[in-house]
Amino acid sequence: DNFYIASRVVVTVPLGILKKNHIAFYPALPHHYAQSIQDIGFGSFNKVFFELEQPLSFRSKMPIDKISDFYWNELGCFNILDLSGIYKKPIYLMLFGGKQSEFIDNSADHEISNFIFSSLQKQFNNIPHTPKKLIVTRWGSDPYSYGSFSFPSLKHSEDIVKVLHQPIQEKIFFAGEHCSLKYAGTVHGAYLNGDETAQKILAEIPLI
Ligand SMILES: Cc1cc2nc3c(=O)[nH]c(=O)nc-3n(C[C@H](O)[C@H](O)[C@H](O)COP(=O)(O)OP(=O)(O)OC[C@H]3O[C@@H](n4cnc5c(N)ncnc54)[C@H](O)[C@@H]3O)c2cc1C
Repeated sequence: DNFYIASRVVVTVPLGILKKNHIAFYPALPHHYAQSIQDIGFGSFNKVFFELEQPLSFRSKMPIDKISDFYWNELGCFNILDLSGIYKKPIYLMLFGGKQSEFIDNSADHEISNFIFSSLQKQFNNIPHTPKKLIVTRWGSDPYSYGSFSFPSLKHSEDIVKVLHQPIQEKIFFAGEHCSLKYAGTVHGAYLNGDETAQKILAEIPLI
């Protein structure tokens, strides 16, 4: 293992990693930091891309610039995006949040395919039984994220996020989308918060 000595460290791992205590801190994080980490919500959101032999016939009636469809039945509410205009092949994307996303995190490709194609068959005609190709994200079970992005839990307040803005003994800083007050859950939230943290540190380092 590499070993580094530094005067400051910026911890930018996803909140899911901190929640699972995958990084050991010595001494342990003060209680209110650990509490904020547990109280800020962190959820799963997944994408499933699939390619078919033939385009979905129900899409043929849609205007070319309308790529997103919603449908719902007893299996749930579904959002399907038609990416064939981009890839020049019958490629589709489905987006899943909440419990559906957790199901995807914990299921094999064939189970996910069965779920999606059963839901399509309930709704539309001429749906094949299986895709030609399927690509699935599983952010909730990925050991480098354990989730997709933060959200305000019922315990949420600005104050619990602000705890993470205070460095611990001016040595340990936290940054990332979950530390952003204005744009949590986004790339720009992560970027702006990282920049802010870096500027804070640079301002403290005496110029030689
Ligand atoms: C499916 C999906 C769709 C999204 N759509 C959008 C969108 O349309 N617009 C938008 O703005 N945002 C979107 N987001 C959210 C956006 O991707 C995140 O908010 C953003 O990437 C968070 O950046 P970050 O730097 O905080 O964390 P990350 O980008 O997750 O970076 C953290 C890094 O830490 C690394 N890491 C993990 N564990 C360790 C460890 N133990 N040691 C060292 N490194 C470690 C990880 O590998 C990762 O590289 C989406 C996210 C998902 C999952």
